[in-house]
Amino acid sequence: MSTPHLMNTYNRLPVTFAKGQGAILWDTEGKAYLDAITGVAVCGLGHAQPDIAHAICEQAQTLIHTSNIYGIAWQEKLADRLCGISGMEKVFFCNSGAEANEAAIKLARLYAHRKGIAEPRIVVMEASFHGRTLATLSATGNRKVQAGFEPLVGGFVRVPYGDLETLRQVGSHDRNIVAVLVEPVQGEGGVRVPPLSYLAGVREICTAHGWLMMVDEVQTGIGRTGQWFGFQHAGILPDVMSLAKGLGNGVPIGACLAAGAAAELFAPGNHGSTFGGNPLVCRVAHTVLEVIERDGLVARAAKLGTRIREGLVARLEGVRGVVEVRGLGLMIGVQLDRPCGELVKQALARGLLINVTADSVIRLLPALIMSDEQADQLVDILSGLVTDFLAAEVKA
Ligand SMILES: *Cc1c(COP(=O)(O)O)cnc(C)c1O
Repeated sequence: MSTPHLMNTYNRLPVTFAKGQGAILWDTEGKAYLDAITGVAVCGLGHAQPDIAHAICEQAQTLIHTSNIYGIAWQEKLADRLCGISGMEKVFFCNSGAEANEAAIKLARLYAHRKGIAEPRIVVMEASFHGRTLATLSATGNRKVQAGFEPLVGGFVRVPYGDLETLRQVGSHDRNIVAVLVEPVQGEGGVRVPPLSYLAGVREICTAHGWLMMVDEVQTGIGRTGQWFGFQHAGILPDVMSLAKGLGNGVPIGACLAAGAAAELFAPGNHGSTFGGNPLVCRVAHTVLEVIERDGLVARAAKLGTRIREGLVARLEGVRGVVEVRGLGLMIGVQLDRPCGELVKQALARGLLINVTADSVIRLLPALIMSDEQADQLVDILSGLVTDFLAAEVKA
């Protein structure tokens, strides 16, 4: 089950999946698993979703790829729909989250140079994650992601996440700041949910200084948090937003959206992508949005998230070693007081797929289509697992 011909970029678990259906995956031995991670927030509609399968098949038999030097009808339809649900005005399509953030960073720099700022800086957050290209790993607030790849791309200033006071102070000293890049909820950083007033505060500071407010919704977007986009919980509109993960339900697509002045910055020759926004991926993403709307899955994500969080609180609150159960919609974290990476393997043995991030945070990113019964089963297996893990540690 392993080959010497893959670069050593992942510590892979000893399992290979052969097929999926909804929230269930089966491995090559035929064992079933409840999927509470969905390929890291990608397959929000679940596996082998029939509308998605149909869209892929029909489009593959019609037209997969032409080029952005021609008109692409599905790209225009998808852009219209994304702007309709977000309030943004223009879209650039790419193939991943990192690329979407690269486009955002390039927009901020163009914006600066138009204003005559030659050495622009973008404010980024501690414990953030924005991708693994050189600019996005430089923006990321995690030394493990950066180490070995210096020199980093310059032009980033880092402040603590959730801290408006420091952001204000930095703004009053540094005339070269042109933008803020922030996740509505930090995913890789440990499912950190800021106070509700935080994004509104960032918006206010950005507006006061004429900075672009850029939200990285690669993980939080497309219904996951119980709104179409995380920023909508705050009742504000950013200037720039990046999307990827859940947008394609597994086909690779990213998008950078902009409103106002930021929407008018790019001109032909400034940016591009060979694959970006081809007919296949755009039709699939358009279908993703249609299915979410048709089946009321944004509201479903909010309800299901509350059900899972309340279930976990009921079973785990007060258990020694459990610090907090938190989250927003279907981004759910269980913070323990100790490293718990080994829980991923133990969960696998019990037929459950989870993730651990920031060393001591169990992260759940279930599909928006998970049933109540599956959600209760998830709570059951996970709380049993955590209780056993903490009890064994005390004994040892
Ligand atoms: C996953 C993620 C990215 C990177 O996306 P890729 O598609 O892996 O490049 C960027 N930002 C956030 C918030 C993410 O969760």
